[in-house]
Amino acid sequence: MAKIYFDQDADLEILKGRTVGILGYGNQGQAQALNLRDSGVNVCVGSPRDASAEQARADGFPVYSISEGVRNADIIFVLIPDEVMPAVYAADIAPNLSAGKALVFASGYNITYKRVVPPEDVDILLLAPRMIGKGVRDTYLSGIGFPSLVAVHQDASGQALPLTLALAKGIGSTRMGAVLSSFSEETTVDLFSEQIGMIYLFRSMFEVLVEAGCDPDVVLLEIYASGEWSEVFAAARDLGLWGQLRLHSRTSQYGQQVTSREQMNLDSIRDQFREVVRHIQSGDFSQEWDQEQEAGYPTLAQVTEDNLRHPMQEAENRLYRLLGRREADLTTPAWLKGG
Ligand code: NDP
Repeated sequence: MAKIYFDQDADLEILKGRTVGILGYGNQGQAQALNLRDSGVNVCVGSPRDASAEQARADGFPVYSISEGVRNADIIFVLIPDEVMPAVYAADIAPNLSAGKALVFASGYNITYKRVVPPEDVDILLLAPRMIGKGVRDTYLSGIGFPSLVAVHQDASGQALPLTLALAKGIGSTRMGAVLSSFSEETTVDLFSEQIGMIYLFRSMFEVLVEAGCDPDVVLLEIYASGEWSEVFAAARDLGLWGQLRLHSRTSQYGQQVTSREQMNLDSIRDQFREVVRHIQSGDFSQEWDQEQEAGYPTLAQVTEDNLRHPMQEAENRLYRLLGRREADLTTPAWLKGG
């Protein structure tokens, strides 16, 4: 069973007199920087990007380049996108690291696949929120907190675990619970949940129900557009997956537990899941993803374009316009065009 740490297991004292440098002021960077500062920690930001740097300045932080941020900080949070991290690490982080510093990652990916290999005289820590950046900030302010996975990959200081827990407390995670994990476990579960095909499952439901004569708007509302499933997942978070079933009718309870078990080929689904795990843990996925990045994202661009032209997207645009929601953008996202 996993070890879970709470507020009483962590001591912010270990951070006194030390500066945390947040590299990258995006989804996670902004939220974690604000939370650490509100917890009494000395924080600076390292960001080369105009929009992020401006936002960090507006939020009242001293802002440096990535190199200066690494030199000025004792504890360095690497909160830039995973795919740009190896190049930024080699160019700006590694040359400015010195013995006794700590590197903190919010994702296990680059350490697991050895795309980033720090020297032996720094601590290598994982503090991976199971929460989007907005939630990291909102739940800190509301006092609920959020779960995270924590791990020590390299303990050069001999203090790596208490340091990780203090940082977890600083960002507000030990309020709900920081779970002891490892970089490779975090990588496996994170990639797995992204790669099991949820969006294609929804699309298959749409295709089959429309084929069966159901109205596309009715189908979309049923499968995700109403937000009913968000409520179900929120109830599962609070009451448990089986506990929340009591909120459903008895017909629904029978359908969800009995009929689906008979109708769906669960052995085949488990086999497919095993293949997803193998693809991740063997390193095959990371190699494929490296090649895709080196080639300039041709497959991602093509599949994104195809998906945005699927009849389900057209139906969603029409419905969301009617419901007064923001219309989905049917063009290729700017970042795919190098923007
Ligand atoms: P973002 O996409 O929000 O970007 C973070 C920052 O990196 C931004 O300030 C961005 O600047 C900057 N940046 C982008 N490209 C470069 C570059 N080439 N050189 C230097 N800086 C760059 O990242 P996230 O906050 O989503 O992710 C950060 C880390 O947190 C990742 O390891 C991710 O896996 C992890 N994580 C993310 C979660 C999430 O909810 N998003 C959840 C848990 C972990 P600009 O905005 O100006 O482009």
